[in-house]
Amino acid sequence: MTSRTILVWFRNDLRIHDNEILIEASLKSSEIVPVYIFDPRYYAETIYGTRKTGKHRTQFIIESVADLKRSFKKLGGDLLVLTGKPEEVLPQLVKEYHVDEVYHHREVASEETDISSAVEDALWKSQVNLKHFIGHTLYHKEDLPFPIKDIPDLFSKFRKKVEREGEIREPFQTPEEIVVPGNLAQSEVPVLKDLGFEEDDLTVTDIKGGETAGLQRLNEYLWESDSLRDYKAKRNLLTGFNRNSLLSPWLSLGCISLRKVYWELKRYERERGGTDNINLLINELLFRDFFRFMFKKHSTAYFVDTEQIAPLTSEQAVLFNKWRNSETGVDLVDANMQELKHRGTMANKGRQTVASYLINELQLPWSYGAAYFEEMLLDYAPASNWGNWALLAGIGTPQKEINPSFNLDKQIKDSDPKGDYIKVWLSELTEFSKH
Ligand SMILES: Cc1cc2nc3c(=O)[nH]c(=O)nc-3n(C[C@H](O)[C@H](O)[C@H](O)COP(=O)(O)OP(=O)(O)OC[C@H]3O[C@@H](n4cnc5c(N)ncnc54)[C@H](O)[C@@H]3O)c2cc1C
Repeated sequence: MTSRTILVWFRNDLRIHDNEILIEASLKSSEIVPVYIFDPRYYAETIYGTRKTGKHRTQFIIESVADLKRSFKKLGGDLLVLTGKPEEVLPQLVKEYHVDEVYHHREVASEETDISSAVEDALWKSQVNLKHFIGHTLYHKEDLPFPIKDIPDLFSKFRKKVEREGEIREPFQTPEEIVVPGNLAQSEVPVLKDLGFEEDDLTVTDIKGGETAGLQRLNEYLWESDSLRDYKAKRNLLTGFNRNSLLSPWLSLGCISLRKVYWELKRYERERGGTDNINLLINELLFRDFFRFMFKKHSTAYFVDTEQIAPLTSEQAVLFNKWRNSETGVDLVDANMQELKHRGTMANKGRQTVASYLINELQLPWSYGAAYFEEMLLDYAPASNWGNWALLAGIGTPQKEINPSFNLDKQIKDSDPKGDYIKVWLSELTEFSKH
């Protein structure tokens, strides 16, 4: 092969399995330059007064990058870890390592696509192409039975059609070796303090980031504990810690791929028999695809509502602070918000409950709630978060599959009938509040 260098820019795809950009770059080049960039814009304050990425997710990202770096080292290479704006850092690397082309996975939310456009423009000045790949969804865009512009705005219609006519690809191969330039610089993964967190911010969630931990969780959930058996029975119940698959943090950062989960479910079906639980979980994975495709189809029109961005009045600010500090006096809401603050997690039922409470009972602008979720959630994904919030607020596209008039009393009765969940998260002695 003639000498060719491809720079692989990692973003929300922090894995070596089923990673098209990595295998494609390895096959089409003599050397690759794998890079992850901590962009300070992702750790700054937002227009809502929240932080874009809170300490739980920041730590999760740090661990995921460190894990990826270890994987590269095992394959004979390394991951270059830098801090800065990608549109400034990448052109410098292109010059330094004589890069011929840059690969990355395309994102759908506006902040991310603005950054890739800026990178594309900057690279173009050096006549280097930024090649976009589509790699975050279960269904590849090309295998959908409709063009993006014709995707139904109703999830049920979308699901029926893709299940009947769509196709899910097999995962990509994992490279057996990584060849990087001999002069690739040594780099260190930052710690929380480097990204602006205070010393007393350093207690973090028990959930570990990285491909290794994500694959372990998948293995444990499906094969070791066989917890999938209880998925249908338990998915609407709130329990203390590990309910449902808890795969979303790793899926959101791309430490595990949706296709990997899908094909493991198919293997489970062959080896342990088909159950409703498999179909239910696949249905949830499809929800993730749906919101991503909705973002692609509608762009920010899917959720933008300019009045939402107006500053809060002082009365609204008091209510908002009570909501986020678990001081509403409604135990189920407060317990869920406590879990979010101390662990960065919340079950789907909990999210629906606290979001509906903010929208319907407190009558606050929903985007403030979404921004707080963005800061705190370990599994934050722009399309899933803002899409679900917009759906609950009844805005965006004309779909109304979830009834925005949420019945709080019914939620409490159905999701925590004996008050066990509330006990765990509101108790003074909870393991997390001891930190
Ligand atoms: C207001 C609100 C905000 C949300 N914000 C996010 C977010 O930022 N990131 C995120 O990943 N999910 C978000 N969700 C969806 C959902 O709550 C989480 O994906 C789920 O709770 C994760 O837990 P799990 O992995 O155990 O899910 P499981 O029930 O085991 O489901 C498996 C996977 O399916 C996907 N999934 C399940 N439900 C949904 C859904 N409603 N929308 C999209 N994907 C879904 C997730 O990838 C999840 O990991 C939000 C939901 C609401 C109501």
